[in-house]
Amino acid sequence: MAIIAFIGLGNMGGPMAGNLRKAGHEVRAFDLSQVSKDAAAELGVGIAGSAREAVAEAEIVVTMLPAGKHVLAVWADILPEIRPGTLLIDSSTIDVDSARKAHAMAGERGCLSLDAPVSGGVGGAKGATLTFMVGGSEEAFALGQPVLARMGRRTVHCGAAGNGQAAKICNNMILGISMIGVSEAFVLAEKLGLSHQSLFDVASTSSGQCWSLNTYCPVPGPVPTSPANNDYKAGFASALMLKDLKLSQEAAQAAGASTPLGAAAAQLYGIHNAWGEGGADFSAIIHLLRGRPEV
Ligand code: NAD
Repeated sequence: MAIIAFIGLGNMGGPMAGNLRKAGHEVRAFDLSQVSKDAAAELGVGIAGSAREAVAEAEIVVTMLPAGKHVLAVWADILPEIRPGTLLIDSSTIDVDSARKAHAMAGERGCLSLDAPVSGGVGGAKGATLTFMVGGSEEAFALGQPVLARMGRRTVHCGAAGNGQAAKICNNMILGISMIGVSEAFVLAEKLGLSHQSLFDVASTSSGQCWSLNTYCPVPGPVPTSPANNDYKAGFASALMLKDLKLSQEAAQAAGASTPLGAAAAQLYGIHNAWGEGGADFSAIIHLLRGRPEV
């Protein structure tokens, strides 16, 4: 079993570090927040006095932080303390540019690195059922895969440095656009006197079917496990969908890709957040499309 340093013990990182501990690894962790440190300590995770102290003897380092600027700052801080040959894995959702910069910094220190953002949310982090989308060399992937397997159910190697982040934002751009499309169809059906169940019965088995409809239906009733049946409690918060859509649009601009529906989705989720539903599940976008906040 390895000594693993874990930096960033929030809603996702805390339970992920707990699962590494449960798998028998020695986990030395750090977070700026006392609340996060206390919650992770209850899961058996060892708490270090600083990020540098956490990584000093680590064979593998995992970071799970809010955004690219945090990842670059933490990696710049810890890399001088890390032995060459160590593997660094960043599982935060960050912009592709920052991810590639982080890989370059690790390379300069003689370390291996992976960008490995996740899907599956807090439930997946707790239950070790996350999907990891991974970018980096074959050598780094071979070393990191067994560790990621302790925190998730599926690990997909998407190619070179930054490609994990690229896969994540492309997938979530599809998701944001498709949820708006499905929600628009339900709002139109309501105006036309077509019941939610009838639309679902037809579209979920026809060419309109997709994950946003069949699994995560934005109206209560047809899919009992969808957040719509639980007062739109996240799930996957609208604020996080907005973050990922903005990342997709930054990447599209930088790469010269035309993504007009992604741009429209980012605008709509921006309004949804400004409207006060950033903490609700992203399927609550249907409220905005109806033009009123109640269900
Ligand atoms: P969070 O805000 O709950 O946790 C982030 C943690 O990082 C906080 O505890 C914060 O104190 C800590 N932190 C910030 N700067 C630090 C520093 N310099 N040193 C040490 N600790 C520092 O966020 P989260 O929900 O755990 O998400 C983490 C990442 O995972 C984000 O990039 C997010 O986009 C991504 N993600 C989240 C979800 C989700 O459902 N929550 C799903 C998929 C991906």
